[in-house]
Amino acid sequence: MTLAGKYIHLVEDDDRIRNEIVQALESTGAVITASETFEQGLEALSAPFDLVILDLGLPDGDGLELCRYLRLDGREDPVIMLTARDATRDCVKGLDMGADDYMTKPFQMTELLARVRNVLRRSGRSVGMQKLEWNGIELDPEARVARRSGEPLNLTRREFDLLAFLLRYPRRVWTRENLLQRVWDNAEAGETRTVDLHVRRLRAKIEEDPRDPRLIATIWGVGYALQAPE
Ligand code: CA
Repeated sequence: MTLAGKYIHLVEDDDRIRNEIVQALESTGAVITASETFEQGLEALSAPFDLVILDLGLPDGDGLELCRYLRLDGREDPVIMLTARDATRDCVKGLDMGADDYMTKPFQMTELLARVRNVLRRSGRSVGMQKLEWNGIELDPEARVARRSGEPLNLTRREFDLLAFLLRYPRRVWTRENLLQRVWDNAEAGETRTVDLHVRRLRAKIEEDPRDPRLIATIWGVGYALQAPE
C-alpha cells in the first residue's frame, strides 16, 4: 500500500531518531510533521492525522498521556507508540488506552514502515482525501474541485492547496512561516510576503467582500486563521 498523501505526525524528542523517521516516511510520499516535546505534540494533535507515532519518554511529559488525550477527545487517529524503555507494562497500558501498535527501540526502519503500512491499511483512513466544508465553502481534495455556495471556484494549484490546508484546521492560527513550510513544500524559496499575496488572491475569490474578509481572518502580529463568519 502506498503512503503517498497520508498525514502522519511524529512526536519524538531524540533528534537523530526523529530525523531518521521523518526522512524515511517522506521518501514514501507521506506528509509528515513532527513535534519535539509533549507541549508541541499536544498543540499539533489538535488536528486529525491518518497516523500518529508517539515516543513515550518525552522531556516534559509522557507520550501515553497524548494517546489518552486523543481517545478522551473521541479521536480515532491510529497510534503507534515508540518506547526506549524495557517497558512491557507501558506498552500494555498504551494498548489499553487505545494505541494500535508499539515498537521497542532500537528498531529497524523497515520494520517501522511495515507497521505503519499495516496500521494504515487496517484503519483505511485518509484525512487528506476527506471532503472539507466550512461556511458555504466545499472542497474535494481528490477531485481538486472547490465551490462556494455551490458555484465552482477557479483556483490556482497553490490557492487550492492553501484553502485545503486552512479548511483542515479551522480556527487555528498559522504564522506565515508555518504556512510557507506546510503549503509551499520548498520553504527556502518562499518569503512570507508570498503568503500574503496568495491570501489576498484567495480572499478575492472566496470572500463576499474581500476588503472586509470574514473567512480568512488576519490575526495581527501572528498570521492567518479560518474563521466562522459572525
Ligand atoms: Ca524520548
